[in-house]
Amino acid sequence: MLNIVIFGAPGSGKGTQSDNIIKNYGLFHISTGDVLRDNIRRGTELGATAKAYIDRGQLIPDELMIDILASVLDSHKQEAAKGVIFDGFPRTIAQAEALDVMLAERGTAISTVIGLEVPEDELVQRIIKRGQLTGRSDDNMETVQNRLNVYHNQTSPLKAFYEQKSLYQAIEGTGSIDEIFARIQAAIVQLG
Ligand code: ATP
Ligand code: MG
Repeated sequence: MLNIVIFGAPGSGKGTQSDNIIKNYGLFHISTGDVLRDNIRRGTELGATAKAYIDRGQLIPDELMIDILASVLDSHKQEAAKGVIFDGFPRTIAQAEALDVMLAERGTAISTVIGLEVPEDELVQRIIKRGQLTGRSDDNMETVQNRLNVYHNQTSPLKAFYEQKSLYQAIEGTGSIDEIFARIQAAIVQLG
């Protein structure tokens, strides 16, 4: 199995590059942001809980997020047979540790972590533009700074966590979508 974690700050292009990866490698895409937004749209109880955190730019609590991920994995065993691209998860060390356990229990492991590295001023520009184009409720000036702070405090320590396991591959996340995807393909190819 090819299990890829796509990692990076908000607005780094995780969703965009995940689309390219699933097309080329036939992996199953799990975007925790999309799962939560889908629940908000359908008016579920989970959606109501998630919206309160998302609109403030905060993370959903780990225990809840880990349960959600396990249930998505278990309900898509068939589609996930070739492997999974994890987009937006893990976002904390606790989530990363839980993911290792979950994958080990299912007889598999993370193959690589693709870290999309983008300068902060470009992240802010991209997010504001996406907010204008899509109306996404957390893509606005007020929430962006919170999301970046949360990223620096809670999520960015995962880079060292995965470096220690020799799983982290830094990818320059600027340039055209195709240029960035070519860099990702080169990183996947060298897994052998
Ligand atoms: P990108 O722009 O690169 O696609 P993003 O950070 O803008 O990424 P999402 O991944 O869609 O956006 O996440 C949106 C929000 O959903 C987060 O700010 C957070 O509130 C919540 N969320 C998503 N994944 C998690 C997670 N693993 N743990 C906790 N909260 C999460
Ligand atoms: Mg996304």
